[in-house]
Amino acid sequence: MIVVMQAGATRDEIEHMMQRVRDLGLTPHLIQGTDRTVIACVGDERFKAPEQLAAGAGVEKVIPILARFKIASRETKREPTVIPLGLGSLGGPRIGIIAGPCTVEGRQMLLEAAHAVKEAGAIALRGGAFKPRTDPYSFQGLAEEGLVYLAEAREATGLAVVTEVVAPDQVDLVAKYADVLQVGARNMQNFQLLSAVGKSDKPVLLKRGLAADFEEVLLAAEYILAQGNDRVILCERGIRTFETYVRFTLAIGMIPALKRATHLPVICDPSHATGRADLVEPVARAAIAAGADGLIVEVHPDPEQALIDGSQSLTPEGFARMVQSCRRVAEAVGRSL
Ligand code: PEP
Ligand code: MN
Repeated sequence: MIVVMQAGATRDEIEHMMQRVRDLGLTPHLIQGTDRTVIACVGDERFKAPEQLAAGAGVEKVIPILARFKIASRETKREPTVIPLGLGSLGGPRIGIIAGPCTVEGRQMLLEAAHAVKEAGAIALRGGAFKPRTDPYSFQGLAEEGLVYLAEAREATGLAVVTEVVAPDQVDLVAKYADVLQVGARNMQNFQLLSAVGKSDKPVLLKRGLAADFEEVLLAAEYILAQGNDRVILCERGIRTFETYVRFTLAIGMIPALKRATHLPVICDPSHATGRADLVEPVARAAIAAGADGLIVEVHPDPEQALIDGSQSLTPEGFARMVQSCRRVAEAVGRSL
């Protein structure tokens, strides 16, 4: 349930209600909106009496939250969560693009990619240093060396750094260098990892699992939010279906569905969704038309030489063209880029 405070509720009244919620054995999460403060009560509510809370000073009403993803829900917070990031933000009227190589292969290629994507209009740089590879014998990433290069690229460009963390015991190391912790599709239901990034003070980019449904995505986000980290970005990147012509099947309808259900920013990954560079631009446009707050796109200075995912990576020129055409779509749907 959520406790909706009156517009003029005092700090003491809010603090008192937070304590009352704790006394009931629930965990209060304070959400300060532009016109209202609400307290989301998380925990087993089966035996709690909402009337007891409704009687508190400064309380306007107590309402049950129907969604199981309580903190992520629009019922709890109506206005969108805007997350400042690098040279822009995600979740506001302006679209934000995260771009860069699948993996950090070396210092030179990363700096080259970073300058190119910044030039074209990206706000953040992507690049995996720890890669969750399906094949145990394939390149696993440069680990901390890759993180060092990412941090150097941020210094050089002002782009924020988005990079993946694959294990709970690596969260501190990755957070030392990264601006956003990426949880990959293969780890979307690694609940210990979700709780660990939830304890971090860095925003989290949560990618949809290969076989995760709508509610599972939002409950995974809830794991992170319940630990106190209120900056989660959701990413639609396609799911497994019988279709094999494209790498995954992008559920375009998931984008407006998520936007309706949650206040969190929703972005789209047209690179992993299609697996083919020639499909990235049209799918990116579709995502923006459908209401995505941003994109995460793979760009490589020389895709033919890429160690991972070269076939879906755009060249810097291709990326610049994609940004231009996405900008026109953004404007057509009342946004900017
Ligand atoms: C990635 O972004 O590099 C990646 C591995 O994506 P996903 O987890 O969506 O497969
Ligand atoms: Mn990739």
